[in-house]
Amino acid sequence: MFEFSITARSGRARAGLLTTPHGVVKTPLFMPVGTQGSVKGISPRELKEIGSQIVLANTYHLLLRPGPERVRALGGLHWFAAYDGPWLTDSGGFQVMSLGDLRKIDEQGVTFRSHLNGDLVVLTPERSIEAQEALGADIIMAFDECPPYPSSPDYLKASVGRTLRWLERSLKAKTRPDQALFAIAQGGVDLELRRTSVLATVAFDTPGFAIGGLAVGEPKEDMYPAVELSTRLLPDHKPRYLMGVGHPEDLVAAVALGVDMFDCVYPTRTGRFGYALVPEGRLNLKLSRYLDDPRPIDPACDCYACTHYSRAYLSHLVRAEEILALRMLSLHNLRYLHRLMEAAWEAIQSRDYGAFAREFAGRRFREGIPPWFTLALREGGHWG
Ligand SMILES: [Zn+2]
Repeated sequence: MFEFSITARSGRARAGLLTTPHGVVKTPLFMPVGTQGSVKGISPRELKEIGSQIVLANTYHLLLRPGPERVRALGGLHWFAAYDGPWLTDSGGFQVMSLGDLRKIDEQGVTFRSHLNGDLVVLTPERSIEAQEALGADIIMAFDECPPYPSSPDYLKASVGRTLRWLERSLKAKTRPDQALFAIAQGGVDLELRRTSVLATVAFDTPGFAIGGLAVGEPKEDMYPAVELSTRLLPDHKPRYLMGVGHPEDLVAAVALGVDMFDCVYPTRTGRFGYALVPEGRLNLKLSRYLDDPRPIDPACDCYACTHYSRAYLSHLVRAEEILALRMLSLHNLRYLHRLMEAAWEAIQSRDYGAFAREFAGRRFREGIPPWFTLALREGGHWG
């Protein structure tokens, strides 16, 4: 029911096939985030058209509204949200942590006030798994603690220990055999703690592993050594998911090091702010220079926005705050990341990921390739 096989390698980059109860997906892949069980403004049919393979839903939001038991009664996410492909739910931990003063963490779990009505809610590993089983995603996540950046070494250490105990409780609480539970390693950018966390997490032998606690504000010079160490220590034959990462340059660098899966609100959120992702970076369609530009966002893109609309029209819609602008930019930005991962897959299949990554970097970093990107390519065996 759940299987991962590697079809080709280029350096440390891997192309793979991940089998889930709701379909086989190709890795590396990017997962759009459907916070409320919906990728904002994009229908399931459109998600399929642009090549989305797994959709992520946030347990925290669905726990508060409409409630996981209601979703279960209506056929789980696949039926309730009318997307019959694979789903992944997060544990709710990350979002609860980011509530700041509204929450309290102890060994039992996290107590917080609902941002909707102020109700006191307790989220524990057991409750998170129960909720994720009710939501019914193909892949569910262990309940973990993602410490903020920066955190003191003592706090990080305590949180790594707690995350491991919560992983054990998450696994114990799990009852559905048709869902794969991924464990999450933490440790911030402290390489010793990261090593401890990854090695202890791997011992649980879950069907996949996530690298958590990164891309939370730390410099990239500190993030990449932690990614590199993690993929070096994680088992080769299991999928690796780098959580909360969605900038195109990060996808290309992390795939170089052997990461298989990503998620982030970045493409849809930046789209709603009027930005379109392109190989050179992103276009700010609020700028007046686009008002007379007849070209598509990206002539190489096959999405509906790029094959039908000019930058001029989209720029006009952005200024007029038309819903269509937000939809089209989200659609294009997701398609951009899916095309990027499809191209990465092809490059790995033809065993030349280095050439693909260098070509990407040549367009993206016109003022010089940053050292963290070069490091990822070199450590991944794609450079020199
Ligand atoms: Zn497009």
